[in-house]
Amino acid sequence: MSIKVGINGYGTIGKRVADAVAKQKDMKLVGVTAHSYSFNTEVAKQKGYKIFTTDGDEDFKLNGINPDGNLKNLLEQVDIIVDATPRKIGKENIEKFYKQKKVKAIVQGGEKHEAIGTSFVAQCNYNEALNKEYARVVSCNTTGLCRTLNALNKFDITSVHATMIRRGADPWDIYHGPINAIVPVLEMPSHHGPDVQSVLPKCQIFTTALSVPSTLMHLHSVIADVRKKVNVDDVIGVLNNTTRVRVVRNAEHLRSTAEIMEFARDLGRLRGDMPEICVWKEAIGTVSNGYNKLLYMQAVHQESDVIPENVDCIRAMMGFKDSDKSIKMTNETFGIK
Ligand code: NAD
Repeated sequence: MSIKVGINGYGTIGKRVADAVAKQKDMKLVGVTAHSYSFNTEVAKQKGYKIFTTDGDEDFKLNGINPDGNLKNLLEQVDIIVDATPRKIGKENIEKFYKQKKVKAIVQGGEKHEAIGTSFVAQCNYNEALNKEYARVVSCNTTGLCRTLNALNKFDITSVHATMIRRGADPWDIYHGPINAIVPVLEMPSHHGPDVQSVLPKCQIFTTALSVPSTLMHLHSVIADVRKKVNVDDVIGVLNNTTRVRVVRNAEHLRSTAEIMEFARDLGRLRGDMPEICVWKEAIGTVSNGYNKLLYMQAVHQESDVIPENVDCIRAMMGFKDSDKSIKMTNETFGIK
């Protein structure tokens, strides 16, 4: 029997999760919510998705859409809701709607770990979400750090220092910036380290962050202290064998976030997405000089890396026990390894 899934918050993350759910053989997309009429709703209608309103029907009817009900009606028809509303609203929605209707809910990285209790990255801690009522798929940055650090912990990481160079806004976003500035996050260390620990509690990680005038991807510069002596080829070997991570090379002319995004478009990915974390082969380095250090840089497509995680989190919360199988099923529908 299919898992019945609803999406509340049909924006950058919500519309991608909806498309991903619609592709899973073991899931049925019951419908998506719309806050107000927009091109997003128009596309949802064209895709045949049922539309449930959160703020009245009038705006939709004026624009030729007859909604299929409201959020409460959607909740009556689903086993689980993926909440992809702007930050802080997800937590409020649990209290206001999901608890009352006894519907399981996934919230996103904009919510705090403490408010939800379970934070999720499929390849790191799938089992923690098994049969849970509520879980949080962590942010795009945290997902990126967790995927590679979890794999590279094979070399016994003792501590990590990472700097996050963050895109100023998503590509469609006309409201945020910066346009001509580099903006340091005035929090030292930044909150990203503790967020990684919500998934990898033993990881000693310290982070700093800044925003730059780019919309394409985030870039992470990571330095890890490791117990074992490590060489670059071994690191490449581990990353090549890690799901949802892609080693990109100078020889492919993939030297920047712009070229990686162009590559994703050329691959024919839906919306030109790159859900894999891209680690530059030539930006992997090691030092063994009385101490062992591992250095690397990775690019994170903020709009899409968390989408496969939402799909796996649905399965885990619905009691599907085989994490490897879930990851494989999800990957196949994205065309990723
Ligand atoms: P978004 O602004 O692109 O989309 C949010 C959608 O929710 C919009 O369509 C908006 O109309 C709708 N909405 C607003 N209030 C609502 C309400 N009360 N009920 C129902 N719908 C409502 O936001 P986003 O970027 O998709 O972010 C959603 C969540 O995902 C946040 O927690 C964010 O931190 C997280 N996240 C975002 C990114 C990213 O780069 N965009 C990456 C990873 C995680």
